Amino acid sequence: MSKSENWQLLPSCTKEAEGLDIILACDGAASVGQVGHEVAVKLTREVEGARMCCLSAIAAESKPHVGIAERSRKLIVINGCQNECASKVLRRLNIEPSYEITIAKEGVDKKPTLDFDEEDVERISKKIAEDVSKLPERRKTS
Ligand code: SF4
Repeated sequence: MSKSENWQLLPSCTKEAEGLDIILACDGAASVGQVGHEVAVKLTREVEGARMCCLSAIAAESKPHVGIAERSRKLIVINGCQNECASKVLRRLNIEPSYEITIAKEGVDKKPTLDFDEEDVERISKKIAEDVSKLPERRKTS
């Protein structure tokens, strides 16, 4: 049996965006970016309908990926630090997120390391899940 038979398959962003809470994390190469990445992975694995998508593809203006962000049920943006690169990518494309968070403002110091505390991932992913569950769907706000 190949290892991939045990992998958790995710819904298709392209086909199912309207029913998904799309998560875009900056994935910065520092402690805060890596916490953001792990938070995005945890929410994707554990929260029904939550799904990471490729921020780099949106920044590259890949039409299908820009469309996924535009059509998403809710759009969750996770920035590592106050540069807020993930938010800026969307703003340039005139796409308004449902929810934005910056890990460096959540009690995590930006350090030149890829290491992080799992406790921060637990705490911040729980906060995002709670906050986002209270938000209306994007299409209902426009
Ligand atoms: S928001 Fe900060 S951590 Fe994330 S990519 Fe930009 S500079 Fe790096």
